[in-house]
Amino acid sequence: MTTPTLVLIPGDGIGQEVVPEAARVLQAVMPALHLVEAEAGWGAFQRHGVSVPPATLDAIRQAGAALFGAVQSPARKVAGYRSAILTMRQALDLYANVRPVHSLPLPNARPHVNLLIVRENTEGLYVGEETSDGETVTAQRRITRRASARIGRVAAHLARQRLTIVHKANILPVSDGLFRDTVRAVVAETRPDLAVDELLVDVAAYHLARTPERFDTLVAPNLYGDILSDLAAVWCGGLGLAPSINLGDGVAVAEPVHGSAPDIAGKGIANPIAAILSGALLCRYVWRNESAASAIEQAVATALQRGAATPDLGGTLSTREMTDAVLAALGA
Ligand code: ATP
Ligand code: MG
Repeated sequence: MTTPTLVLIPGDGIGQEVVPEAARVLQAVMPALHLVEAEAGWGAFQRHGVSVPPATLDAIRQAGAALFGAVQSPARKVAGYRSAILTMRQALDLYANVRPVHSLPLPNARPHVNLLIVRENTEGLYVGEETSDGETVTAQRRITRRASARIGRVAAHLARQRLTIVHKANILPVSDGLFRDTVRAVVAETRPDLAVDELLVDVAAYHLARTPERFDTLVAPNLYGDILSDLAAVWCGGLGLAPSINLGDGVAVAEPVHGSAPDIAGKGIANPIAAILSGALLCRYVWRNESAASAIEQAVATALQRGAATPDLGGTLSTREMTDAVLAALGA
């Protein structure tokens, strides 16, 4: 086996602060991990005229794994600038966005939530094709059998006992009907043991807000998945705690859900937990190292239980001290 390699892409703002800390934790559980650094984001655009330099894409393709921090978007539209994460998603065909929502031991967090949202990441309304005659605007919403089948395969693979297909096929029977039926067929073929149910997206939002404990894994087209995953992130206990991973074939980019947080950037107080837990997702889904993934998650829970907290959680620890608390819980 070749040495596992991870491309670190801190990006902008607090990405610069949390990614190196997550790397320290990853190296503690996987000492052989080889780290390389690459650039992307607004800073990269100002230096190179492109938000994701070709060298960065090459490095990710070669390693198969990246940990991305955050990108700052320019306040005004800038000619030639394209969002770094959108560019990476497209160039690397990262077609599945996976967001676990797991209760952490925090006083104001909701207990017993342990769900996974699998979002189709390449089509739906996000094809971004809008046409206008000045009075009427039409936005394309593309659903294909191919993309529905491959997101269905990811969801079937990741679900534990039950998969909930989210759609709006009562209003959009042709497009969402294709999504639902294709996912159902793939699941029946690949995971006949899995219980499958379905929910209209509005009903799913209601249940996610009311009884998130009832869910195992949800799979949804792009827009519904985007909205539901932000809703569900509430149960993580805060933006500084929510991890995610973008999966393609043979390539993955993990990233904390939060952005570059310009209001606290440079102060050394950002919560590194979301980035650290994103690192655990790389262990689980890319390197198939479940014991490393659980060790990180358990250490985060233990550190929080012991009262370790950055200012966003009501504490006084710095980014580095918070990571030290996780490393101490790891016994590293
Ligand atoms: P961007 O445009 O990059 O998304 P934003 O202003 O939307 O930036 P977010 O990163 O989305 O900022 O964060 C929203 C709020 O949550 C901010 O007040 C930020 O300080 C806070 N926040 C986000 N991530 C963290 C973190 N890791 N630790 C502490 N606070 C955070
Ligand atoms: Mg934001």
